Amino acid sequence: MTMTLRSRVAWFVAVVVVLPLLVGSALLQRSTQVSAVDAPRTVARAMDDALAQFDLVQERIFDQAELLALANAAARVTDDRSAPARRWLTEQLANPRAAARADFALIVRRDRTPLAIAYSDPAVDLDGRVDELADAVTGDAPPGLLTRSRALWPAGQFVGWVVTGVQIDDELLRSLPASNVALLDNGRVVAASRPVPRELAVPRSTRDGAGVPRVAGHALAVEAVSPTRQLLVWEPTPGTGPIVMAWVVLLVWAAAAVWLTLVAAQRAISDPVVQAAAVARKAADGDLGQRIEPAGAAELQSLSGALNEMGIEMDRRLRELADSRDQLRGALSRLGETLSSSLNLDRTLAVVTDTAMDTVQADRATLVLTTEDNDLETKIDRGFDLPDDTRFDAHSLPGWVVRTGLSVRLPADQVVIAPAVDGGILATHQLSVPVTGTATGGCIGALLLARSDRGPAFTEDDLRTVRTFASQAGVAIENVLLHQEARRLSLTDPLTELWNFRYFQLQALREVEAATRYHRPLGLLIVDLDHFKRVNDRHGHPVGDQVLAEVARRIRTSTRLPDIVARYGGEEFVLLLPGTDAAGAVVTAERIRRRVARLPIVAGGQDALRISVTCSVGVAAYPVHGASVEELLRRADVALYTAKSQGRDRVINADDVGAEVRVPATHRDSRVGAH
Ligand code: GH3
Ligand code: MG
Ligand code: MG
Repeated sequence: MTMTLRSRVAWFVAVVVVLPLLVGSALLQRSTQVSAVDAPRTVARAMDDALAQFDLVQERIFDQAELLALANAAARVTDDRSAPARRWLTEQLANPRAAARADFALIVRRDRTPLAIAYSDPAVDLDGRVDELADAVTGDAPPGLLTRSRALWPAGQFVGWVVTGVQIDDELLRSLPASNVALLDNGRVVAASRPVPRELAVPRSTRDGAGVPRVAGHALAVEAVSPTRQLLVWEPTPGTGPIVMAWVVLLVWAAAAVWLTLVAAQRAISDPVVQAAAVARKAADGDLGQRIEPAGAAELQSLSGALNEMGIEMDRRLRELADSRDQLRGALSRLGETLSSSLNLDRTLAVVTDTAMDTVQADRATLVLTTEDNDLETKIDRGFDLPDDTRFDAHSLPGWVVRTGLSVRLPADQVVIAPAVDGGILATHQLSVPVTGTATGGCIGALLLARSDRGPAFTEDDLRTVRTFASQAGVAIENVLLHQEARRLSLTDPLTELWNFRYFQLQALREVEAATRYHRPLGLLIVDLDHFKRVNDRHGHPVGDQVLAEVARRIRTSTRLPDIVARYGGEEFVLLLPGTDAAGAVVTAERIRRRVARLPIVAGGQDALRISVTCSVGVAAYPVHGASVEELLRRADVALYTAKSQGRDRVINADDVGAEVRVPATHRDSRVGAH
């Protein structure tokens, strides 16, 4: 299956551009999705770390409380004086071993009243919140503080608590391993390592701490570190919204790109090419009138232009060819008709000249023939207006053409003829061709054609056409001349105007000789009318003569120029067909038989009889049936006899009968007596 250009381009764009783009985008998205998928895990791990660290901080505070208990904080309670207790606490906290562990420490009596508070960090001041701290000694620390307390049991008796703690501030949270961490107290953010994004929308009060919703764009973890406190760890994740959007845009863009490519390919390539192909196909079917609208890419437009020009030019050439063919056909048929029927010299020469002029669009012409004293006599003059009885000698252009037998095209051949010719150059644009007969073998004249000096020169083709034409015409002219000559020498039959048997015998010898020399076939026909005696018996001898004359005319017009048609005697005719073999001779014989029989012959003057006749034909050919005139005549005669005995009105080839068939004497006698 072959793909259209359009789908090829579309596939190309889809495979080379769009597909890699989509694959790339998908890979890119997968990698971002991986980080989005990982975000909750990252957060969970961060939360674990943060919790561990947070526990560590609480343990340290507790350690501090333990140290204070060991250092006998109980004695301060028993003493129950604030100032010494405070001093004692300050000393303890200043101990380098304890310094970094708690921001503050206080002693609380068993009735939850504060005794004293001291600070290791001078920036911390909780004097105003001491009661609050003492009150929360066993519960959660007050907001913003992280505390641990240790009950004091000296000698098995409970006296109060020592409380240590740190202030929960942003800095504390920043010391945790998670980068985004916040501490919520009853759902309220009390401290954060980084500002908590607004969209996290941490609820104002959530008792169980489970109130932080999952928010699109963030991975969250919330863990309670005490009944009212939670650690919040969050990690932003890219939302899927923009990704979906990006995909929609990308796919729409890809579809649009493919579609646009299709449309562009269609407009720029497919449509013009399809149109051009349609026009070319129509041209191939003979319709050259179609034109292509120039469209599409510049190259295709120039192709369309070139195709259009080609169409116009082909159309023009075709018209020219058809014109010249019609002209030639007309000319040849006119020529053929005239030449085969006319034995009138002037008419034949006129037709030859006029037809040649028509054929190559000459506007002037002259035909000259050799005279007995070897001059050239103007027989036809069309437009040259030569003086009457103009003659050309051997040094004129026509003389040179006749002498050399060569054709001349002027001005092209000017150089060739210049040294040999003085005179008889009748025009600048001129064709001069010899008129050659076959019987004499030499030139019998010349045909000169001319065009106006302003018109186009004759072409080599014109010359070839006229030369062919002149050689045909030569045979015809020679025929007429020979006929005239033969008439003079009484070689023709007066009733039928055909050659007589004497001429036939002369000619037959020459033709057999030529056939032998040039190894070409030679056909021979004998035509005999069927039951002709009856025509005579029924209508009388004069009517029989009229019928014979018409049959002779029909036979002559059924043959070609080189064929020799003679009256063999009585109502028999003999034909020599040079260059024709047995099969061709049978074809000619059939044509003659049909033409003789087809229409009744009108005869008998005013009575207008319509007489139908048929004929039988015997066919023989050189070399298959014989190598001499006598042998060929004998074989054709045997064939003719066979045609008669098989029922008449038929053609029999010597091939189809044995060479040894005996012809009864009666058959032969009827002819022998006739000549
Ligand atoms: P078929 O050939 O079919 O056997 O019969 P047919 O009657 O034609 O016989 P055949 O050829 O033997 O006879 C020739 C006849 O033709 C004899 C004669 O009456 C006639 N004929 C011969 N020459 C002339 C002629 O010059 N003029 C006319 N009118 N008749 C002729
Ligand atoms: Mg006969
Ligand atoms: Mg006969």
